[in-house]
Amino acid sequence: MRASIYKTADELRMMLPAGLLTARALDAVGEAVRPGATTLDLDAVAERVIRDGGGVPNFQLVEGYSHTVCASVNDAVVHGIPDARPLEPGDVVSIDCGALLDGWNGDSARTFIVPGEPDREDAAGWLAEAHRVSDATRAAMWAGIAAVATARHLNDVGGAIEDAIDAQPGPLGNLEQYTGHGIGRDMHEDPTVFNYRVRRRGPAVKPGLAICIEPMLTGGSGDVVVDDDGWTVRSADGTVGAHWEHTVIRHRGGIWVTTAHDGGAAGLAPHGVVPVAP
Ligand code: MG
Ligand code: MG
Repeated sequence: MRASIYKTADELRMMLPAGLLTARALDAVGEAVRPGATTLDLDAVAERVIRDGGGVPNFQLVEGYSHTVCASVNDAVVHGIPDARPLEPGDVVSIDCGALLDGWNGDSARTFIVPGEPDREDAAGWLAEAHRVSDATRAAMWAGIAAVATARHLNDVGGAIEDAIDAQPGPLGNLEQYTGHGIGRDMHEDPTVFNYRVRRRGPAVKPGLAICIEPMLTGGSGDVVVDDDGWTVRSADGTVGAHWEHTVIRHRGGIWVTTAHDGGAAGLAPHGVVPVAP
């Protein structure tokens, strides 16, 4: 029989160190994003932070995967494999990363734009588009996280993400076949967290829920192709992709983002939600 998707207050609290270690790994990756760095370099940076912190890179525990991060560049949106190509100014790099610490998991993703002037004719347009898509994805993530504070059922969260995407300017493609998920002792647990409304209202959003909210958007359509490597998911139309993710818990006192140093305070402020430590 499947265990309950709802965790005890003690279990939720035990998830905090893994979340913070995941945040620190992504902080270090962000500091290492520069022209000439490779995504393999970024992978090594993340692994060092996680192992120095006493954790294990939980992506390495996913069957068939051996890296600490997924690194998805430009038209790649998610599940890109780190490689040896030096990053160039203006490259859009989505880094997805997680840590297993003391038996519990964190999972988070950020999209970085490599600093500097892109070496291309449409440099200004490219950068504007990169920021548009990344900002929209991050805004959709925070809208979904904020909804966890008040949602009755999980479909309310997906609806909030969908509405936030629709409220953004310009075309955006939602990768509808990819979703967020529950998290705890395993990185990927039930329930599925859709980034859009579905027909079912979904499980109750109530104290004990621990989920990852992770919208994945392109600057065009949501149609994607998977590379021959079997992992890398790219926009079918070549438009730029972005991926933002946090781990959020709902407890008796409210919500808390385990993978944000401030519990999500800054990102939630525009939504009028104040995170409460569990
Ligand atoms: Mg992730
Ligand atoms: Mg995830």
